[in-house]
Amino acid sequence: MWPLTRHSPPPDFDPARWAQASVGQGVLAGLDESEQKRLWELAHEFLHTRSLQAVGGLELDDTQRLRIALLACLPVLGLDLGWYRGLDEVIVYPDAFAPERNWTDEYGIAHRGRMELAGEAWDEGLMLLSWHDVEAAGPLDGHHVVIHECAHWLDLQNGAANGRPPLHRDMDAQTWTREFAAGYAAFCAHPHRRCAALDPYAAENPAEFFAVCSELFFERPQALHACWPGIHRLLSAFYRQSPETRIRTTGHAR
Ligand SMILES: [Zn+2]
Repeated sequence: MWPLTRHSPPPDFDPARWAQASVGQGVLAGLDESEQKRLWELAHEFLHTRSLQAVGGLELDDTQRLRIALLACLPVLGLDLGWYRGLDEVIVYPDAFAPERNWTDEYGIAHRGRMELAGEAWDEGLMLLSWHDVEAAGPLDGHHVVIHECAHWLDLQNGAANGRPPLHRDMDAQTWTREFAAGYAAFCAHPHRRCAALDPYAAENPAEFFAVCSELFFERPQALHACWPGIHRLLSAFYRQSPETRIRTTGHAR
């Protein structure tokens, strides 16, 4: 265990521990040394200020805990942990989990049942992840469960998740709404033709469109740029990062 005092300074950057914790995760492979050190500090602050609990018989060692924290902090590498305000606890299941839920269908009929999930962001201070899916997210294929759930947390920072997180002062809300609404409508009409690289789940609703576009932005930024240069530009401005500088067009980290 890391020493869990709230304001203790992070341990000095350790390249060997970085290599262990980041192994197999394409999104972490192309970071330069200063980015690695910044992410290392954020990840340790994350581990000191949030509870990370393994459940369902899963045990996570320090390296695995650090891996989750590094991945969770990647979206805020250009921001800070204040952007995860309200996120108190990360619960990690061994595999996909199926919480019981109530829902109402389009005819107004109430149902209760279970749906299998790889991850979920709740606005009650919880993020749920499947360890199997965290590990499976390594290749740069446009899918990453941790980035997806973290994008929902950023979206939740100004109320309900609606696909528009709080924007920086130098960003224009109308431009954001216009670009994302147009992209979402075009994708819903012709998902494969409009952007074959984007997971069709993005058509679920505007919040999922933002989260799935964020996955593509971090994993295959050139593919997102080819589909929607405007959305790529807005995500660069929001995340204050340019993953295309560290991920080659082949989809491999530099
Ligand atoms: Zn989602």
